[in-house]
Amino acid sequence: MLGVVVPFFNEEENVGAFFRRLTAVASDHQFKLDIVAVDDGSTDGTLDQLLEAKTWVPNLRILQFSRNFGKEAAMSAGLDHVRGERVVVIDADLQHPPEVIPELLDKLSEGHDVVYAHRRSRQGDGAIRSLFSRSFYRLLEVFGEVALPADAGDFRVMNRDVVEALKSLPEKQRFMKGLYAWVGFDQVGIPFDVAERHAGKTKFSFFKLFGYGWNALISFSAAPLRISSMLGLAVAFAAGVYGLFTIAEAIVFQRTPPGYATIASAILFLGGVQLVAIGVLGEYVSRIVGEAKGRPAYIIGRVYD
Ligand code: UDP
Ligand code: MG
Repeated sequence: MLGVVVPFFNEEENVGAFFRRLTAVASDHQFKLDIVAVDDGSTDGTLDQLLEAKTWVPNLRILQFSRNFGKEAAMSAGLDHVRGERVVVIDADLQHPPEVIPELLDKLSEGHDVVYAHRRSRQGDGAIRSLFSRSFYRLLEVFGEVALPADAGDFRVMNRDVVEALKSLPEKQRFMKGLYAWVGFDQVGIPFDVAERHAGKTKFSFFKLFGYGWNALISFSAAPLRISSMLGLAVAFAAGVYGLFTIAEAIVFQRTPPGYATIASAILFLGGVQLVAIGVLGEYVSRIVGEAKGRPAYIIGRVYD
């Protein structure tokens, strides 16, 4: 049996096509499915479509969130509820072709614990989006707590042990790609071609993605803190050197240093550096506050079992 976790947010035009493709693959390869579809607070006809699909798709459970909690929460909910010794996480918009699942499973049965699909190319992404995304992975690679495989999304199959490990992580602000990597185990990737979105458009605006990346960096790296300490040290050192230099100038050359402009720029510069450092600190404090509240990552309004 194969567990399937799939998040839906305003995907009404994709529901039918998704389940047709998925069930066709399952019957071709003769595996039984246990599907958890998470309706992440859709405001269109997604739920109706899911209920319609439920009439003909076996073993389909629908978790309806009480509002939109985001894809990370939706995947977490799916993983919390899915059954099966092996589990696949897949997007609802058919950008992750269900036909790739058997390949992932074959690789898994070679003895790995996780097989993720990584995209062959970023064609179709805008230049700016792929530039940001590449620099993001690079930043995490250099400064992060975990190395994320570049170009791997959430499309992956994993063993039950890995699912249980993910479920045991108590954090509420969940950056799944980081958590997947953090739990370890034997992970390999296989390349696949990302398909065009079947219908509708992406739910991630540039700003949402930027926020996502920033959150990931704060969650999985203390580098911004370290960089601001380094910057502080560097500024203090430079100021010390400059101070000695002006004293020497006054004694040796009897030249009084020009006052007003240097003082003003030094104060402004230091003020700026301090504000940045406080801001960085604040980012981490706001994380702590978020976790300390202990609110759940998602709330399920209704279950259609
Ligand atoms: N999604 C979700 N909640 C959200 C945004 C997206 O459950 O708040 C789902 C969406 O329905 C889809 C998957 O996450 O199944 C990937 O979203 P999308 O295709 O918009 O992202 P992209 O492929 O552009 O990165
Ligand atoms: Mg997509």
